[in-house]
Amino acid sequence: MADSRSANADAQTLSPSTRRKTRKVRIGKLWVGGGEPIRVQSMCTTDTRDVAATVTQIQEVEKVGCEIIRVAVPDMEAAQALGAIKKQIQIPLVADIHFDYRLALESIRQGVDKVRINPGNIGDRRRTEEVVRAAQSAGIPIRIGVNAGSLKILKEWDQWPDWDQEAWAEQMIREAQEQIEILNAFDFQDIVVSLKADDIDRVVLAYTKFSQRHDYPLHLGLTEAGTLVPGTIKSAVALSRLLSQGIGDTIRVSLTEDPVQQVKVAFEILKTLGLRAYGPEIIACPTCGRCEVDLFEIVREFENRLQKDPTLFQKAQGKKIAIMGCVVNGPGEAKDADFGIAGGKGVGAFIKKGKVSGNVPQAQWVDSLIQQIQETETLAPTSFSC
Ligand code: SF4
Repeated sequence: MADSRSANADAQTLSPSTRRKTRKVRIGKLWVGGGEPIRVQSMCTTDTRDVAATVTQIQEVEKVGCEIIRVAVPDMEAAQALGAIKKQIQIPLVADIHFDYRLALESIRQGVDKVRINPGNIGDRRRTEEVVRAAQSAGIPIRIGVNAGSLKILKEWDQWPDWDQEAWAEQMIREAQEQIEILNAFDFQDIVVSLKADDIDRVVLAYTKFSQRHDYPLHLGLTEAGTLVPGTIKSAVALSRLLSQGIGDTIRVSLTEDPVQQVKVAFEILKTLGLRAYGPEIIACPTCGRCEVDLFEIVREFENRLQKDPTLFQKAQGKKIAIMGCVVNGPGEAKDADFGIAGGKGVGAFIKKGKVSGNVPQAQWVDSLIQQIQETETLAPTSFSC
């Protein structure tokens, strides 16, 4: 069962038939790939050695629906903190390992649900083999996380290659395949692959080509998307090009922002593409000279109250709720909404299914929308395996 604190406790895949078929891999209590809902994950920004701070941040992202959380493991103290972190969280925990394979071994001993290794810097084959054996006996998957900027081949050259996007994509795939072969030599198939870069075309090409050759589940993302607004747009453009082709089994939006925002943006991308349900669709106008209320503040308050109340957020799931700035265009623009309010000075028109059903004093707009949600029939729980 989903954690009841999770904002998207009943989030589901809406159009599975268009998804590309991949293998199914278990990560803790969750499955990824094989037609499962596209999982939303994030990564902590805390120092993993600070167990209390890391647990607090994970609990925050759990509240907004994050399904898998990754933490950096820069040293042995961080690896040794993972067991204590795992005991206090609900969602699968992933250890992110660079450079030192012994950190992966300790993370597995601590009970993590997956390890991510970067083939560009984990070292020679023997080290990868040790990690594979440990993961195999613990029954956990490995993500082969290739980043364009840390390809193995770049370390051997003293100048940046003059490659076209095709060559970059092929090299990223080649290095992922080298690791896959090592894992396969141990009959290890619980593999998730990522092929990240900060260039949209490179990312799209690498994932598209890889998906034509392999059926391992894919973790989609850009390496560094940027700050909230440009990063959201860049991520939405890149991920939608892949997701709309049916490519991708789990996503992470790498914003220079609080992981809570990363999770919300990821779900909004999936919701906009019709791939996951996540709360209501709020239709709000941009306002103009006809607006006589502080609509921005009203919308913000409404969103905040929804976010703070997972039960309410869940009840509102799938609803179109309009908050419009005037009664000149508002009711018409909101005609597709299930319900909403169109503002006037001091009083707003409450609209249900395109028809005005009464007037509401401005101070009660948010309350009246919340009350309407509460009177809504609760959606039946859907399958959600965590
Ligand atoms: S709904 Fe009214 S206030 Fe909002 S943008 Fe349209 S005309 Fe302007």
